[in-house]
Amino acid sequence: MTERLQKALNEQITAELWSANLYLSMSFCLKRDGFDGFAHWMYRQYQEEVKHATQMAHYLINRNAIPKIDKVDVVPQCWKNPMEAFEDAYKHERHVSKLFDLLINVAHEEKDNATQNFLWDFVHEQVEEEASILGIVDKLRKTNPTGYLFIDSQLGERE
Ligand code: MG
Repeated sequence: MTERLQKALNEQITAELWSANLYLSMSFCLKRDGFDGFAHWMYRQYQEEVKHATQMAHYLINRNAIPKIDKVDVVPQCWKNPMEAFEDAYKHERHVSKLFDLLINVAHEEKDNATQNFLWDFVHEQVEEEASILGIVDKLRKTNPTGYLFIDSQLGERE
């Protein structure tokens, strides 16, 4: 694998860990505000992001490249309410989708077909991520305080 592509994949590993911390921070904030279900959902999301970073690291190892974790920047710590947190999550996932578009362009320019193929799974998964979070934002926008608690307990069921 070319140096340029290795560097780009390693930057994505660090970005996934930033995402993981973002969702863990949201989970803490929501838990503190008594929304155990939303907090649980965010904790699962945190675990997903750690899994993405690990999948990329294992891919690099399989390709005889070296996975690296760089400095992970500080994440926000406070959201006024669950809707604000999920709106931020949606914005963030749209940003992540753009990162994957850029990454797959690098793999294409470096003529690395295996890495392009590896990255398509993430590109597809981003569509699901954006849709599922936007679905939650929509529900939160439409609901009243009782509905809020219902959605909280629903999201608490996330496996
Ligand atoms: Mg991710």
